[in-house]
Parts: sequence; C-alpha cells; structure tokens
Amino acid sequence: MKKIVVLGGGESGTGAAILAKRAGLDVFLSDASAIKPQYKEMLDSREIRWEENGHTEEEILSADEIIKSPGIPDKVAIIQQAKEKGIPIISEIEFAGRYTRSKMICITGSNGKTTTTTLIHHIFREAGLDASLAGNIGKSLAFQVAEEPHAIYIVELSSFQLDNMYDFHAHTSILLNITPDHLDRYDYKIENYKNSKFRITQNQNPVDGFIYWIDDPLINQEIEYRFIRGQIGATICPFGDKDIDDGVINYDMSGTVFSIPIEELPIKGKHNVYNSMAAILAAKLEHIKDEVIYRALVSFQPVEHRLEPVAEINQVHYINDSKATNVNSCFYALESMKTPVVLILGGTDKGNDYTEIESLVKEKVHALVFLGVDNSKLHAFFDRKVASIADATSMKEAVEKATVFARPGDTVLLSPCCASFDLFKNYEDRGKQFKEYVHQLES
Ligand code: ADP
Repeated sequence: MKKIVVLGGGESGTGAAILAKRAGLDVFLSDASAIKPQYKEMLDSREIRWEENGHTEEEILSADEIIKSPGIPDKVAIIQQAKEKGIPIISEIEFAGRYTRSKMICITGSNGKTTTTTLIHHIFREAGLDASLAGNIGKSLAFQVAEEPHAIYIVELSSFQLDNMYDFHAHTSILLNITPDHLDRYDYKIENYKNSKFRITQNQNPVDGFIYWIDDPLINQEIEYRFIRGQIGATICPFGDKDIDDGVINYDMSGTVFSIPIEELPIKGKHNVYNSMAAILAAKLEHIKDEVIYRALVSFQPVEHRLEPVAEINQVHYINDSKATNVNSCFYALESMKTPVVLILGGTDKGNDYTEIESLVKEKVHALVFLGVDNSKLHAFFDRKVASIADATSMKEAVEKATVFARPGDTVLLSPCCASFDLFKNYEDRGKQFKEYVHQLES
C-alpha cells in the first residue's frame, strides 16, 4: 500500500491526512510542534496515526510521497533529507486536486488574495452556485473533497502552496499583483517568488481563463516572456486602469456591457477597485448575470482586519488594517485615505523598504506611532520627516498615543507594514486588540 506522510498537523495537513485515509492509503502525520486538540480529535476519530513535538525519521523517510504543509520551509532538516532520498513532496492542494473534478477558481498575488477570494465566493453564492472557500481560508480543500464536496471551489493560494503544485489544474486562475514579500523563503530573489506565483497558470488550456493585473510591471514582463515560449495556455483576461472610465468600471464581454461606478463599491481604495475587477471577470467567465454581479458587489462587506472601519469617536475615524503585513498593502491603505492620518505601524520587519510609502506619509500623515519591540529602523527612516512620532510597546499604549495625536476629522489607521509576531500571536490578535482598545475609548 502506498505510504503517505503528512508534515504539519494544522488545517491543511489534517485535511490531507483525512483525504489520504479515505483514498485507502497508509497515512502517518507528523508535526514538529504541538497539534491543536481539535485536529487530534479529527485524526483519532478516523484512526489516522500521528505524532507531535518532533519527527520520527524512519517513519517519514519511508514514505512514498510527502504532503508538506505550506508553513514548513524547504530548509528544515527533514525536508532536506526527504529530498536527498528522492521522495516526492507535494502540497495539500496538489493532493486534493487528484480526487476531484470540481471546478477550481484559484487566486494568488502578494496582496488582496483573501479579499478577492471572499468577494468571488460572495458573488457566486448570490448567483446560487454551490461554491465553497478553500486554500488559505476556511476548511482545507482536501477535507472538503473528502467529506463535504462542492461543485466549485474558490481557492486562495499562497506562493508556498504553489511551490509544491505540479499537475493541479486551475479552471480560472487569478494573479492580482507581485510585490516583494516572503523573500526570505526565495533566496532573496524576486525571480524565484515570481516563478512561484506563475505556477498558478501551469496546466491551463484555452478553455480556461487567466485573469491578471495588466498594470503590474513584473507581471507584464513575465507574461511577455512566457507567451513567446508558449508557456501560457489559458485565454488571458487582463484588468486594469484601461477598464475605468470617468470613475466607472466597464466590461464589454459576451455581448453585454457591465458597468459599476467605483463609488458604489462598499470596499474602499484603489486596490479594492482592482480586486473587484478581478472578481467581476471571474464571475463573467462563469456567465453570471450582470445584475447578480452588481447586486453582490454592492452588498459585499470588508473582510475583518482589511481596512475595516471600527468606530468614530470624537470625530476621529478608527480603521483596522492589521492584515497590512507588508509595505505595499500599507501604501494602498494610505492612498485610500481621504482625511489627515495618524498611522500606527511597526512589528517584525521582513526586510522592509519604506521608500514606497514615504511620499504618501509626508502628504497625509501628521503623526506616527511605532508599535514594536525594536523600532530603530522606523526611527532611522521617518524621524524628522513627520511632525509627531511616539513609541509604543503594547496596543493599549499605541491606541492611547494615537488618540492624543488625533484631531477632529482625522483617521487613526492601524496599517503596520510588518508581521505581528514580536508583540502579538498573529495579525488577527493584533487587529482584535486594536478594536478592543478603540471601543474602550467609547465608554
Ligand atoms: P492577502 O490575502 O493577499 O494577504 P488581503 O485581502 O488579506 O490579502 O489584504 C491584505 C492587505 O493588503 C490589507 O491591508 C489590504 O487592505 C491590502 N490589499 C488588499 N488588496 C490589495 C491589492 N490588490 N493591492 C495591494 N494591497 C491590497
């Protein structure tokens, strides 16, 4: 019997193990850390063998195939050993793709994946389609394929998922943008990261669609290169500024013209205009009626922690953009601001270059609050460029200091440019704490 070893016992790994068991394979799951009780229970109730807090080498290296969770970097010893032994390593999405014929709408990009994936899902559900979220959101694709199948999956794919995908076929692929991120896992080469993102188009053919942002220089350059070599098999559907006319998004496709004024979109900012365009194209490729697309777009609510309005207190708006874990997402948050801003930023720096937001900060931000264990890089860059700067080592302190700086009519924006792990469990924890302390100001 073929032996599958799953590395990582989170949502993705547990789902993969359940699907492998259901497929009648010999499965063993191993996690270098503790596995959450809910996943242990899922594994036990299906009689799947597992271990935690370490890897048993002979178990793992006797696998015919390894399914690696996306959080595990290639450089860890057990992966290196498996590679040396020539054991194929695949991702959970690749594995799940072998056991389903459902339609796959797949979304990747450096920023905007969750927003766009959720928006497409919302439109498809409004259209009455049996569509389900998967990938980095909600239940894992493998689990759903095994136990809760759907006709269509709207799959958010990170570059880490894409790295170990080979035969998987996206019926519609979406590439939102490519800006430097996670370069620590790509030998600090943007080329490697770009190649990873373009894997979303592999195995596509002309009946499939490839939706991408045409104004992104990195994407454009790569598309030209790949076209000449016949490496893009899908029908291309670019979106960008060419589709906006006088504040209205227009799509002239399949005999009808779809139009929506940008101000009608409830999710604000130029980046969300692009995300909406990608979603419109995905819906059009599915032949969803224009009026349904329109209705769904105007009823869509911002996803938590992405430019999420929190409260208005003493004429100051508070916005939670905790998911802005890189400089580019903060750029778009600032770009969308219509009032003077007090910006809270900082955290675990991933090799950030703040030049990208420098002019927007100078134009719109009159006070900065640096929220991190080590704020020296932020000071080195922003000191003397902004009128008021303060340091904070907790969210409570950051909200209090930002509130002191804020004047009536201002926006206090949490858009940190950084990962959250120095002071918080994750970006959700950071965003929730922000909301909690903002709401405390109301009482
Ligand atoms: P992802 O899932 O790719 O991390 P999200 O939708 O969660 O993307 O958004 C992450 C951050 O990026 C948020 O701060 C959001 O406001 C910002 N953002 C969303 N869409 C875009 C885009 N198309 N370009 C740049 N930034 C974006």
